[in-house]
Amino acid sequence: AAKSRGRGNFQFFSAEMNAATHERLLLENRLWQALEQNEFELYLQAQVDLRSGAIIGAEALLRWHHPQLGMVGPDRFIPIAEESGLILPLGDWVLQRVVELLDRWRGLGLGHLRLAANLSARQCHGTSLLPQLDRLLGQTGIDPALLELEITESAAMQDPERSRELLQQLRARGIKVAIDDFGTGYSSLSYLKLFEPDRIKIDRGFVKDIETDPNDAVIVTATIGLAHALGLEVIAEGVETQAQADFLRSKHCDEGQGYLFARPVTVAQFEALAAASLNELA
Ligand code: C2E
Ligand code: MG
Ligand code: MG
Ligand code: MG
Repeated sequence: AAKSRGRGNFQFFSAEMNAATHERLLLENRLWQALEQNEFELYLQAQVDLRSGAIIGAEALLRWHHPQLGMVGPDRFIPIAEESGLILPLGDWVLQRVVELLDRWRGLGLGHLRLAANLSARQCHGTSLLPQLDRLLGQTGIDPALLELEITESAAMQDPERSRELLQQLRARGIKVAIDDFGTGYSSLSYLKLFEPDRIKIDRGFVKDIETDPNDAVIVTATIGLAHALGLEVIAEGVETQAQADFLRSKHCDEGQGYLFARPVTVAQFEALAAASLNELA
């Protein structure tokens, strides 16, 4: 019985592998065309001030409308784009689009909103990022402090010395920097001093069980305290319940992002949300 179960498992496993390989081929084959064919779209997820509830900005999150697979999330194609090198032109496209949006918002009465873009490890450690940012800032004249770049803790730690230099260069331009997925890497607290970001984003893995897991509650509370002591702001990711938001507010976490406030939505939907948030406060 064990033998036949073993064989069955093996067949099941290899069928799954074939499906995964098949999907990967579908993604890989089309990736380079996708940019030319305009198949990528930026969704925006609101970030809110935990005290007032106001929308203070958004994070731009990539989506791919694949002709066969439908909407594909970044976890499925960013790793492939990283390996193939497409991440560089794709990352350029994201930054250009994000700066265009900041420029557009000035004319819509939404000029107070901050907009964050995710940087890949390759973008961080390459040579084209700073010249591109200088060109985009020069073309538009947007306030660089409204542009935030998110670097994951693990990308920053691949080359801490270069990351420190990059962050210094961004700071010199007035661009904001957030350390994404904070707490998931092995670096953490001592590197905050070295990188001097403006903000840390507490990974949603810590927020999820904040009310039930005393360890997570302690880690989040201590992280907020330390960040504030170093003069950094804190945003919590993956806030899904009112109880999580209340806990975070009680620990003086500055901002929140998560399904409780808003899912990632299209640009038009986000602009409507942000305008409504302004009216509520007025
Ligand atoms: P991230 O930067 O940590 O983005 C947050 C992810 O958490 C997003 O997933 C978002 O949809 C999801 N999320 C937000 N609120 C909640 C919540 O309350 N509950 C749960 N369960 N999830 C929530 P998404 O959009 O699938 O993006 C995944 C990752 O892909 C991002 O993680 C980021 O690392 C990467 N990514 C997205 N856009 C880009 C991009 O333009 N460039 C690069 N290099 N990476 C990107
Ligand atoms: Mg992010
Ligand atoms: Mg994150
Ligand atoms: Mg993440």
